[in-house]
Amino acid sequence: MTENAYAKINLSLDVVRRRDDGYHDVNMIMQSLELHDTVHAEFTDGGIEVTCDSGAVPNGEGNIAYRAARLMIDKCGADCGVRIHIEKRIPVCAGLAGGSTDGAAVIRAMNGLLGADFDAETLESIAAKVGSDVPFCINGGTALAFGTGTDIKKLPPFGNHIVLLVKPPIDVPTPWVYKNLNLGAIVHPDIDGFISALSRGDADAALATSGNVLESVTASKYPIIEKIKSEMTNRGAKFAMMSGSGPTVFGIFEKTTDAENAARFFKKSFDEVIVTKTV
Ligand code: ATP
Repeated sequence: MTENAYAKINLSLDVVRRRDDGYHDVNMIMQSLELHDTVHAEFTDGGIEVTCDSGAVPNGEGNIAYRAARLMIDKCGADCGVRIHIEKRIPVCAGLAGGSTDGAAVIRAMNGLLGADFDAETLESIAAKVGSDVPFCINGGTALAFGTGTDIKKLPPFGNHIVLLVKPPIDVPTPWVYKNLNLGAIVHPDIDGFISALSRGDADAALATSGNVLESVTASKYPIIEKIKSEMTNRGAKFAMMSGSGPTVFGIFEKTTDAENAARFFKKSFDEVIVTKTV
């Protein structure tokens, strides 16, 4: 079985509170991109094998896909194994849910392979055990992720927009970003305003409410984030923001030629520059 595993960006990201268990309650507008990994899965007599064509991602037990396969086999009490191969196109450690979406693709593929036919709610609850972005990646599209990020509410579609992704070569561990977030000092984006603009079919009004509170941490340590945002805006992006905890910056463009010209500009300085679109 072969599944496309779509990347995501956060069109808006708010952190509401720090919980007693150390996690955070969030409100995130999640959006799938056409950019995807391809995940192949086939039955074997026993054991779980995971390989990936990227050296940046672990094979075997360290791969998020392995954890997803283990949970599905255990949940179904299945007496079989699975061989998984991942063709990686999504930049790694980028804030684009590259690992989470592979995990979700494995859950979808194995739901079919094992004939389990679990409903969406069951699949999302299995996904939540794999990682906090995994439940969104089960169905993708445009959605609100709330609670610790594992509760999903489908939203009206944001529509098809051209997106430029630029990932600067810096490593931003997500736990470090949350640890350094000063909840008392952040300006919260208007998530309700985003959703009501989306319900009116007004994507531009929705974007006017957007913000990513995690930018306050990542961009103050790495000025390159703000630099990429302003270069994108100068080159025709109608909106530019960091995705997730970073470091990838995305820009939304009206014109493909502007996005492609901007991509050519950024490719002079960065290896990971991709033109894609929202789906
Ligand atoms: P998110 O946006 O959900 O925070 P991310 O895009 O920042 O995720 P990932 O690309 O998912 O980060 O990688 C996070 C870590 O997971 C890396 O250290 C990577 O080696 C590891 N990993 C394990 N399995 C995978 C996979 N299938 N694809 C990508 N990374 C994986």
